[in-house]
Amino acid sequence: MEVQYWDRERETMDRESLEKLQLERLQATVEQALKTVFYKRRLGKIGITSGRDIASLQDIEKIPFTTKNDLREAYPDKLLAVDRDEVVRLHTSSGTTGTPTVIYHTQHDLDSWTDLTARGVTATGATRADVFQNMMTYGLFTGGLGLHYAAERIGMIVIPSSSGNTPRQMKLMRDFQTSVIHATPSYILHIHAKLAEEGYRVEDFNLKKAFIGAEAHSENTRKKIEGLFGMEVYNSYGMSEMNGPGVAFECVCKEDMHIWEDAYLVEMVRPKTADRVPDGEEGELVLTTLQREATPLLRYRSGDLTSLNAAPCACGRSHRRIKRIRGRADDMMIVNGVNMYPSTIESVIMSVPEVGTNYQICIEKQGSLDRLTVRTEIYSKMFTGDIKALEGLKTRIREKLKSAIIISPVVELHEPGALPTYEGKAVRVFDLRDKND
Ligand code: AMP
Ligand code: ZN
Repeated sequence: MEVQYWDRERETMDRESLEKLQLERLQATVEQALKTVFYKRRLGKIGITSGRDIASLQDIEKIPFTTKNDLREAYPDKLLAVDRDEVVRLHTSSGTTGTPTVIYHTQHDLDSWTDLTARGVTATGATRADVFQNMMTYGLFTGGLGLHYAAERIGMIVIPSSSGNTPRQMKLMRDFQTSVIHATPSYILHIHAKLAEEGYRVEDFNLKKAFIGAEAHSENTRKKIEGLFGMEVYNSYGMSEMNGPGVAFECVCKEDMHIWEDAYLVEMVRPKTADRVPDGEEGELVLTTLQREATPLLRYRSGDLTSLNAAPCACGRSHRRIKRIRGRADDMMIVNGVNMYPSTIESVIMSVPEVGTNYQICIEKQGSLDRLTVRTEIYSKMFTGDIKALEGLKTRIREKLKSAIIISPVVELHEPGALPTYEGKAVRVFDLRDKND
């Protein structure tokens, strides 16, 4: 196994030095946060008026959590900690579900974000010899720009293709022999489904690696993409509140994602009670920025469910790892009284070889009960007119799902291309129960 680092000293720092650095940076961050209207008021209420009021890393528990709602209430500038002249960029959330949120960046913020992302990209073994096609959307969404600058800083040839225009993506991949791509897992699967139609074969390309992120996906989906394209697939995690991509990344060991602990202080809590979760148990990830100037955030509730892996990693990095994200705490569905996550369903259907690249989960009311329907596309070779084979496949998928989620869903099989596709984050779950009430 060949291991390369972007910033060896930081990435392999011993625990004690790392924690010392974290404390220094936490104190500076609290000091910085006190310059915002929002935190001055909130921290003032509990008597924190200076970074020195935080004497140890444990003292962070004195500070209340920050939520997405807080960010909305602070819109547009109550969380701005620097003079407007210092700000060089801002990113906002889409705001489709209410007031948007905004994160401002100074040049220092953008530089350190780029470095963190470059660490992740380098950890996968990618180098300046690679041709990098970035299929994440460029713009206010951070997925595009976040990796763009890191790849340039590493010295890769960057093709900023953004998302969409699938035929052009394929042409670029072939003509420039793209070796590394970055996209949502659903978009990569969509590209595969369209290859033959556009007259391409996987062998026309030179794909070696893909970074996938922005939406929850299972290990089975990773394996599926690896198998379809014959490339290594690495999980990349981030969120706009914490800059964007580059918060955590898998290394060549491909086992959980290193979270950069010199930049983010990690806590794990129970979603309902906010009690601390012991190491290794699943909880909601709570993050504090440790080096951000323009919009410092303290104890931000990410909403994402994962667990910490504190075991040493064979790559030599000392920063702990987080497990693949199960989904958002509020993704949990309750169907006829049974709790389940969409990612469990995804994991099951992606383990069935006949299942294609696209699926949907739909919940409706049927009388006083809930009805769960799982729609999946299957490969066209299955539609041979052999109804028995199709019924057999349906039963097999239903049985597999039943043993994973306890209840037995209705399974529908569809031809390739029958279900809607998404260039950005896919929408998989349609809960129609409220409307039917
Ligand atoms: P955004 O702020 O729009 O970039 O969305 C961030 C959210 O996307 C995170 O809070 C996660 O819910 C989700 N997300 C990002 N990366 C991943 C990943 N690798 N696996 C699962 N979910 C992810
Ligand atoms: Zn590692």
